[in-house]
Amino acid sequence: MSNPDQSTRSLTGALLVSKSASGVALARELQRLCLECAVTRDVDDLPALIPTTARPIVLIESDSDTPDLAATKAAVAMGFSCLVIGDGASLEQRLASVRAGAAGFVPRPVEPMALADEIERLAAPASEDPYRVLIVDDSAAMAAASAAVLERAGMLVTEETDPLAALDVIRRTSPDLVLLDIHMPGCTGMELAAIIRQHPDLVGLPIVFLSAETEVSRQLLAMSRGGDDFMVKPVPAQTLISSVTARIARARALKASLVRDGLTGLLNRKAFIHEMETILVLASRGGWDVPVVLLDVDHFKAVNDTHGHPVGDQVLRHLAALLRRRLRRSDLIGRLGGEEFGVALPRTTPEQAVELMDRLREEFADITFDSGLTTFGASFSGGVAHGLPTIAELMKAADEALYAAKRGGRNRLVVAGEADAPSMHQSLEADVGSGNGR
Ligand code: GH3
Ligand code: MG
Ligand code: MG
Repeated sequence: MSNPDQSTRSLTGALLVSKSASGVALARELQRLCLECAVTRDVDDLPALIPTTARPIVLIESDSDTPDLAATKAAVAMGFSCLVIGDGASLEQRLASVRAGAAGFVPRPVEPMALADEIERLAAPASEDPYRVLIVDDSAAMAAASAAVLERAGMLVTEETDPLAALDVIRRTSPDLVLLDIHMPGCTGMELAAIIRQHPDLVGLPIVFLSAETEVSRQLLAMSRGGDDFMVKPVPAQTLISSVTARIARARALKASLVRDGLTGLLNRKAFIHEMETILVLASRGGWDVPVVLLDVDHFKAVNDTHGHPVGDQVLRHLAALLRRRLRRSDLIGRLGGEEFGVALPRTTPEQAVELMDRLREEFADITFDSGLTTFGASFSGGVAHGLPTIAELMKAADEALYAAKRGGRNRLVVAGEADAPSMHQSLEADVGSGNGR
């Protein structure tokens, strides 16, 4: 494939340092979960093992009841992020591994899916998106003083002295938090907070009053108008920074949890569609294609009925992990509902999209799931659409193609518009009589 982004498609990997007999089995479990994993007995072999992954995470497993702190320290000194495997009940072990520089601790017995999630979390680059703060204060000098403090802490600060202009500035700069003065001519901070809160999409925007107001009853009144906190000027620099940082971190975490599906960690339907809107605008400006693929697990009801709902959930999590680990960071992946997933592949040709998704389809169909009582396989069908101007049209075309894939026998991909090709037509007709609908 000629797509230059292709090389970044396999991203996450781990290096396991283990003298324990279970090391190889654990590495195999991680590979089953679509993570690259190499094993070594000796921490000194790590530099030679750097695999194709960008930021491998080192797992330290000892062959005794206590974690291998020497190996942890050695790996940390080499610049790796380390996860230590140890006894979960032991606070001493956790403390010792933190002191050895470990980034995380994984309790025994190791649950491979949880370990894979933890590796992925550590491997994800920290958000480089600086915190954005809007300061509204009629005194330019006051605003500048607070701004200087926050900017020194790495935040992007916008200052506004006219409260009546604040809403426009919020729209333009999408701040993570607003610092509001209370006493301002034209519109008080309390009034402005009430106005901000009238906008449904700004209900979650943290508002912190920063004012010389020392009267507690007026502070409480300000909070009742939609403020989240109140700080009395002058606020010590460190207090201002920690308070703003804590509020923004929580607001961002909350926002992330609202757009993510709880079971798989993928974007939920609403967020997927929302992100698609942005990508489509960029695509039409940039003149590149964004193939959209809808996937649906085949006969999933039967998986639940045979093996139970929790096992069904594991299948969904596994498919999500496969998509997340095999696709690029710039690709959009969502759980659109039940056992249906959506993928959008910016800057990818339809041919590349089909080739890629077909490989994933085969990989998924090759997985052996274990219900605890028996083993079984699963598959998915997919519909691919591209070259249409709106999300609604793309989704409709992909859905129709998915339907054709189901009717064509499942465990296959169909490209929208190509479902009418003679070969597909035949299988469609052959299937109609069997009532094999989705
Ligand atoms: P087809 O091949 O035509 O897609 O058949 P299917 O059985 O997959 O489709 P159907 O829509 O009949 O059944 C989907 C099932 O997915 C029914 C529902 O109980 C199950 N399901 C939906 N969400 C979840 C979930 O979060 N976890 C589990 N375990 N099952 C779910
Ligand atoms: Mg299904
Ligand atoms: Mg379905």
